[in-house]
Amino acid sequence: MYTLSPMPLKTAEAIGARVQELGQAISVEYDFDMVISVLTGSFVFTADLCRAFAQGEKNTQREIRFIKASSYGNSTVSSGELKVSGMESLDLKEKKILLVDDILDTGRTLLALVGMIKSQGAAEVRSCVLLDKPSRRQVHMEADYCGFEIDDLFVVGYGLDYSDKYRLLPDIWTLKNS
Ligand code: 5GP
Ligand code: MG
Repeated sequence: MYTLSPMPLKTAEAIGARVQELGQAISVEYDFDMVISVLTGSFVFTADLCRAFAQGEKNTQREIRFIKASSYGNSTVSSGELKVSGMESLDLKEKKILLVDDILDTGRTLLALVGMIKSQGAAEVRSCVLLDKPSRRQVHMEADYCGFEIDDLFVVGYGLDYSDKYRLLPDIWTLKNS
């Protein structure tokens, strides 16, 4: 049985403040053309981040696309096998891409996705993740923008699931095996 921690790891308020900072920093530093959001876990983060970008003519011209990546199945440990869908049909030629994912864990997902985006002719790719677990890394991969570094904990809420539950919680919680 899995139970939620007694207190959130990150409150909705703390997440909101950090997402505003990220949106502002990215707006200043990276003149991207397209957001690619990795479903399903990053759907809430993506929506909040998009609304934190600086407004202006440039922002009206940006596109957003959604791809699906999954490697977890119904477990808290990655199966190691990555399934990606929706990437082949995207026209990325000469575009500057902002790749948005929920968590950088072993690094395998982000490394593979960045490789695919480059091989489809993107001019530049930068990545933005909400959470980073540096102690879990198995491949050489760092995100260009990161919300919070966290310890090796399994987290849910704010879009993140365990077996497709907990996604609708506004805060981020740790899940404990009890
Ligand atoms: P990686 O390929 O870096 O090992 O895995 C990254 C993906 O695993 C993330 O995009 C996320 O979907 C999933 N993941 C990793 N850690 C967690 C976690 O603590 N909670 C949840 N819900 N998903 C996680
Ligand atoms: Mg994911």
